[in-house]
Amino acid sequence: MDVIVIGAGPAGMMAAGTAAEQGARVMLLEKMEQPGRKLAITGKGRCNITNLKDWEAFSPHVHPLKRYFKPAFYQFSSEDTVKFFNDIGLPTVLERGTRVYPASQRAFDVIDAMKSWLERLGVQTVYNCRVMKFITEGNATLRSSVDSANSKNENHLRITAVKVAGADGEIRLLEADHFILATGGKSYPRTGSTGDGYPLASALGHTVEPLFPTLTALMPVNYDRRLEGVQLRNVRLDLYTEQVLRRSEEGELFFTNLGIEGPIGFRVSRQAVVALNKGQRVALHLNLKPALTREQLMARWERESVADPSCRVGAGAGSGFVVGELPLRLKRYMPEALIAPFTKYLAESGLHPVDGMLKWIFPIGSFGDWARAVVTAGGISMKEVDLHTMRSKVVVNLSFAGEVLDLDADSGGYNLQIAFATGRVAGKHSNGV
Ligand SMILES: Cc1cc2nc3c(=O)[nH]c(=O)nc-3n(C[C@H](O)[C@H](O)[C@H](O)COP(=O)(O)OP(=O)(O)OC[C@H]3O[C@@H](n4cnc5c(N)ncnc54)[C@H](O)[C@@H]3O)c2cc1C
Repeated sequence: MDVIVIGAGPAGMMAAGTAAEQGARVMLLEKMEQPGRKLAITGKGRCNITNLKDWEAFSPHVHPLKRYFKPAFYQFSSEDTVKFFNDIGLPTVLERGTRVYPASQRAFDVIDAMKSWLERLGVQTVYNCRVMKFITEGNATLRSSVDSANSKNENHLRITAVKVAGADGEIRLLEADHFILATGGKSYPRTGSTGDGYPLASALGHTVEPLFPTLTALMPVNYDRRLEGVQLRNVRLDLYTEQVLRRSEEGELFFTNLGIEGPIGFRVSRQAVVALNKGQRVALHLNLKPALTREQLMARWERESVADPSCRVGAGAGSGFVVGELPLRLKRYMPEALIAPFTKYLAESGLHPVDGMLKWIFPIGSFGDWARAVVTAGGISMKEVDLHTMRSKVVVNLSFAGEVLDLDADSGGYNLQIAFATGRVAGKHSNGV
């Protein structure tokens, strides 16, 4: 074989097909019984393929450093991704301006389109085939750049074969000239992404930057379970770590059995997890009425007190409500399911309802684990990867693609763009240079 690609997720499939387009004989090894098990559940089964923002707008969503992804993005942009899918027979549609989905709204159609593409190109895909080990010759030294021209003559570390286990437990060695590691991260392990790539790469001398789950739920301390199932729109979430405001996000928020999730919960989750892992204090401040200033909201609250005399009397001196009638009034401001937990918060904090609506504080105690985190942050150090080719600087005939790398992004189609672009670049540069 010319090229062996390990992992048939979006990155591996893209790398395999691209190498085959260049005339290489390619084998794609997948430990599950089908390709793209994770791809199938992306975008709630609809698959947000990419995001059409240009680099200026796209790059702030890339972590840990946008420059790690820039050369790959410039070689295979989001527009190239859309063109690629359209060319292989998958029509796409735009949502909310820049988010791209398959026109059929079915993630399975993305997988089927890629599968057919690989078949047409003669890629030999082997399922139920788990790569356990790289067999190597030579010595590991970090090269400052990838100069494979003379590499065969020098004693650089080179992979000669992979040791694989089949479904029946049969162990085999598969040889190739070049290898591409695209085993994904370690979140949602039931999809096959169990983090196998990290020990495989570190055994070769690669550094693996600390792994942590991102795009994951944040669990409030003493979480009021009555919040579970509440979904809020047009709210703002401010992330505080060590009492300093770090990030503000507006949009949709979901309370689930795992805590605070949904688009804006996910957007603040990366920084929150980093802080929690450092033992820092983390709190989310929820603003239920971000479009209004305190003065505007207070004026509305007081106007209603005048209009409804029963609201003027009573317990909350200056707050303009009778305790028993508060839930009734709050109905005008929030979904019913929120009212009981909110009044409990007011009682505990002593805040005026207007202030509570503008700043409902949730101290965060923990975060969702690998089973439910959408993405893995950390991974194979980008300092040891040639960013223009995705080739290893440690092993002459190895490249990387996708989430196994120390590259991740916010939700919105950015992560799949990373997988497709790095896969494209790895496949393109797998033969020769
Ligand atoms: C619920 C959910 C929704 C998401 N929605 C979106 C979305 O809409 N848009 C977006 O941009 N991103 C989304 N993502 C993120 C996106 O799915 C991933 O970033 C992307 O799948 C990473 O691609 P990959 O090819 O690097 O890895 P993976 O998709 O994880 O694929 C890796 C493959 O390697 C195989 N493998 C692992 N170890 C071995 C081994 N030892 N031998 C052989 N094969 C092996 C695995 O079985 C797997 O098939 C979502 C993720 C989740 C969990």
